[in-house]
Amino acid sequence: MNDTQVDHSLCAASACPMLGISKRDADWLCFIHVAARPGDWYSISAELNRLAWLVDDVKRLRAGSGPKTRADIAKSITLAQRTDLLCKPSESTTAWFVRLEQVLADSCATVRQQEIES
Ligand SMILES: [Zn+2]
Repeated sequence: MNDTQVDHSLCAASACPMLGISKRDADWLCFIHVAARPGDWYSISAELNRLAWLVDDVKRLRAGSGPKTRADIAKSITLAQRTDLLCKPSESTTAWFVRLEQVLADSCATVRQQEIES
């Protein structure tokens, strides 16, 4: 195992834990970084690392939505005391996934807004 090895499936923004899914120039970026100005990249990465548990849940849900995966994610959300983010009875897996991703995006937008105001 080489510590300097770069995981090319990850977002190219420094220290971002998300998967790179959109290409900008030569880089694969996550959906949050691809929409952000480079000057905001560092604070976005910091916020995503703060929410690493939710980033992991979103990644797991992207990889598969079997009963075990859904149960693991529900446990993680409950441990983080964010039961408002549990899958609703009426909610499809896709809708749930989109909602979790939106929480990440909103949280990063809030951090940027606070920086602008401070
Ligand atoms: Zn990213």
